[in-house]
Amino acid sequence: MQKYDLIIVGAGAAGMLAAIQANCEAPKLRVALLERLPRPGKKLLATGNGRCNIANAAADRGHYYNAAGQNPAFVQPALQKYTQQDNLAFFRSMGLLTKQEAEGKMYPLGDQAVAVLDTLRLQLAARRLELLCEAEVCGIERQNEGQAAGWRLRLSDGRLLHCRALLLAMGGLASPQLSHAQGFTELLAPLGLKVTRLYPALTQLKCSGPLPNSLQGIKFNGRAALWQVEELLAEAEGEILFAAYGLSGPPILQLSRWVARNFYTNPQPAAQEIRLNLLPQMPRAELLAELLARRSLPLLLEDFLTGLLNKRLGQQLLKLLPGERKLSAPARSLTEADMARLAGLIKALPLAVCGVTGWERAQVMAGGLELKGFDSQTLAARRLPGLFAAGELLDVCGDCGGYNLSWAWSSGRLAAHSAVQYLLSN
Ligand SMILES: Cc1cc2nc3c(=O)[nH]c(=O)nc-3n(C[C@H](O)[C@H](O)[C@H](O)COP(=O)(O)OP(=O)(O)OC[C@H]3O[C@@H](n4cnc5c(N)ncnc54)[C@H](O)[C@@H]3O)c2cc1C
Repeated sequence: MQKYDLIIVGAGAAGMLAAIQANCEAPKLRVALLERLPRPGKKLLATGNGRCNIANAAADRGHYYNAAGQNPAFVQPALQKYTQQDNLAFFRSMGLLTKQEAEGKMYPLGDQAVAVLDTLRLQLAARRLELLCEAEVCGIERQNEGQAAGWRLRLSDGRLLHCRALLLAMGGLASPQLSHAQGFTELLAPLGLKVTRLYPALTQLKCSGPLPNSLQGIKFNGRAALWQVEELLAEAEGEILFAAYGLSGPPILQLSRWVARNFYTNPQPAAQEIRLNLLPQMPRAELLAELLARRSLPLLLEDFLTGLLNKRLGQQLLKLLPGERKLSAPARSLTEADMARLAGLIKALPLAVCGVTGWERAQVMAGGLELKGFDSQTLAARRLPGLFAAGELLDVCGDCGGYNLSWAWSSGRLAAHSAVQYLLSN
């Protein structure tokens, strides 16, 4: 049986940086990093559409949620001890430079996610850290006897490994084609570790009705508001895309956690609706005045909104007005009541939400290991000495915009630091 001081399960963002952190602090400790896939960090390559939104400069508690939808104070110690500035300085010390874009989003200077993965891979190799790929952990047992106290791991090919401290960084269920944490609930249940309800987050929305299909492919900069009955749950602004199934784009991903929680955790989901503000920069009164003024232009209905909105989108809105209308009719055929309705549609186009596109397209998992089982100051399991957890596996899910990698880096480093402290004092 191979013996290690520290085994880290999962060579994703959190696990790789944790291994490097542990080696920086205590180079003599024997550390192994286990990955079930043939290569480490596959998910990292897909992040930020191949550019990797590596962090967000504004990462703090308000940008994170637990499965119940609250902002967990749990994230603070990790984000404060290993701030994003500090994490990016750590990357810089390994040769990776970064830049800041709008809304605090950080990217590698060369705009390539592969540079982030290469930096981590090369650092693991330079430090001679043991990276075992195609090493899927399928059994974990606590051993309490004397010298052998620690953890016995069984791999799917039958190999047995032993370690004094164990750091779990297996990620979640989102995008299983990129990172595979299937079965983690069953794997961790014998240890008494509890898992919350799980649902996909940062994913597209499915909408019912013919509208999404007829608008398929149209992009616009707007504001999306998510309503449940008559309660406004959340709003987000940015580039929105109509797709055959419904809606996509960063603001939509941002709202998806409320929709997924509704549809995945309620046996009878509440009715939800997205209202799209197609022209958020123009107040309603100004828009109405503009529409009334356009009636005197020599326009046909098919071009009535051209110049104000995407042409096809404008035409579809006109088709939503009551009564039979031909797009070849003159604009002056529109009444004042039509203008008020049109302004209402442009400011709040309603689409009934019928779900999310699911785990395959989700960027993150909402929910995870129950936070009350872990000490936020160390990320150590409260009842299992020598066991630590980091990253998406914990019940922490961040907003769209670099917040999830920020959490992976900070929590990975804190868990590794605590594991090293534990090993040096036991
Ligand atoms: C398409 C996409 C784009 C994204 N873009 C961004 C972005 O731009 N910015 C951002 O902040 N976040 C982004 N995210 C989210 C971000 O990638 C994750 O939150 C982050 O990678 C989580 O890191 P992690 O180390 O906890 O888990 P992961 O990166 O998922 O790593 C976990 C690793 O553990 C391995 N593993 C699981 N179970 C076992 C086992 N039993 N034995 C051995 N190994 C195991 C997995 O195969 C995996 O490699 C994106 C996600 C996706 C899917």
